[in-house]
Amino acid sequence: MNLVLFGPPGAGKGTQAKILKDARGLPQLSTGDMLRAAIAAGTPLGVRCKALLDKGELVPDEVVIDIIGQRYDEPDCTGGAVFDGFPRTIPQAEALDAMLAARGRKIDLVLELKVEDEVLLSRVEARIKAGGVLRSDDTPETLKHRLGVYYKNTAPLIDFYRRQGKLKTVDGMAPVESVTSQIAAVLDTVPA
Ligand code: ADP
Repeated sequence: MNLVLFGPPGAGKGTQAKILKDARGLPQLSTGDMLRAAIAAGTPLGVRCKALLDKGELVPDEVVIDIIGQRYDEPDCTGGAVFDGFPRTIPQAEALDAMLAARGRKIDLVLELKVEDEVLLSRVEARIKAGGVLRSDDTPETLKHRLGVYYKNTAPLIDFYRRQGKLKTVDGMAPVESVTSQIAAVLDTVPA
């Protein structure tokens, strides 16, 4: 099964992707994690993308389309994958459809985690209060910017996938375990 986890920054996509990996063995393909790994390793790609991530801007479509394509061809994705943070633009979604079609596969389901902006902001503030190591883009100011980018570039995908009949929405403001069980209930309706 190929699943897209969709939602605004900080909605809990990564948390649920990790739970899905443990529960269903579907690898988590997070473009954000891949880009942060490239930055930490100081690769040319990382060097090229660091300033964009720090500012909360999107990296160019071709960059993420390329890394996701390479990652998807690794053997652990034979049974499908959970796409987390990808696609984020219409051209990325079209490229994903084309990539899967070329392999005789398709997106089975797009799960939207719906979370209001105020809740996203209060989550960042809580993380700051709690201390610990935060991402460089995990500040209220950068989150506001990432939200603007989300509404402009990414939210149009809701209609894109709704028209394909693939969109299901869950309440991302519920406690983590409740989001997990809402997702499980939706997945049980998808033919294997
Ligand atoms: P979030 O918690 O905001 O969902 P991610 O870890 O998914 O964060 O992404 C962090 C940053 O990585 C984004 O703000 C953007 O700069 C970059 N990025 C991740 N995925 C993509 C993508 N599909 N297209 C463009 N940029 C991306």
